[in-house]
Amino acid sequence: MKVVIALGGNAFSRPAEPITQEGHLRNVEAAARVVYRIIQEGHRVLVTHGNGPQVGFFVELQKDRPAFLLDSLTAATQGLLGYLIVSALDKYLGRGRSVAVVTRVEVDCDDPAFKDPTKFIGSLYTEEEAKALAEKYGWVFKRDPRGGMRRVVPSPTPLKVVEMEAIRQLFEEGFVVVAGGGGGVPTCDGRGVEGVVDKDLASALIAAGLGADFFIILTDVDGVYLNYGKPNQKKLATVRVDELEKYYYEGHFPPGSMGPKVLAAINFIRRGGKKAAIGALEEGYEVFKGEKGTQILR
Ligand code: ADP
Ligand code: MG
Repeated sequence: MKVVIALGGNAFSRPAEPITQEGHLRNVEAAARVVYRIIQEGHRVLVTHGNGPQVGFFVELQKDRPAFLLDSLTAATQGLLGYLIVSALDKYLGRGRSVAVVTRVEVDCDDPAFKDPTKFIGSLYTEEEAKALAEKYGWVFKRDPRGGMRRVVPSPTPLKVVEMEAIRQLFEEGFVVVAGGGGGVPTCDGRGVEGVVDKDLASALIAAGLGADFFIILTDVDGVYLNYGKPNQKKLATVRVDELEKYYYEGHFPPGSMGPKVLAAINFIRRGGKKAAIGALEEGYEVFKGEKGTQILR
């Protein structure tokens, strides 16, 4: 089987922990083990990954002098996390059997998202701090549900993966490819733009572009829930894509977290994929086996 595995940005760095290289090495190891177990059974795997905590870290580091814009920072985190993932895979696969591809995605320059930035990045600020940064750099701030102000950037819909053919050829040659990190660098009219593409939507494009059989999204929750967080919450063990789409439009899955994952799974199957699954990184292998997480069928 051709399998695409999307790893959540929080899979590398628990939100409660400060960002460190050591912490990343430990967390990436868990992901590498899941990938290796699947490969060992004769399947081919491509890995995509988030970068929220990491790109937020670099945005904060440069807040007194933003030398690089968000497109470059996304590319930087693709290199950084790609390097850590391929290094972890080396131990299992042998050196040089996996490769990370700096990935760009095309978006529409007129995507309505550019007029309505919604994706939170970086840390929380007081109102005065936010106002000063907004004046200085033209950054847009919104109130974060956790309290305080946080920068928001546009999250345009990914239309096409620029490096898709290169990724496909590497994959077909047998390399374990890491691609689409952080949703890819958004570009329009051939230039990078300030924004963040949802990594799950970009991953679904890559999975469909490869003709993958199985698209797996691993995150920090053990599946997709109806009425999540309420006393009557209920985990979906197996669900057909039509039924899941109905729940999606009923508003069970918030934008910015579970919403895009569910939409990405739906998109993948609508574009010809056989099945998708959403589950916890720690249960990654069991999710692959169909024993854990939420299994989404055609
Ligand atoms: P990632 O970094 O892996 O992309 P996100 O934080 O974006 O992870 O999305 C996963 C989060 O979605 C979970 O931690 C969970 O709190 C939240 N969530 C929101 N709604 C639901 C739901 N209906 N079912 C499961 N998880 C949900
Ligand atoms: Mg996310």
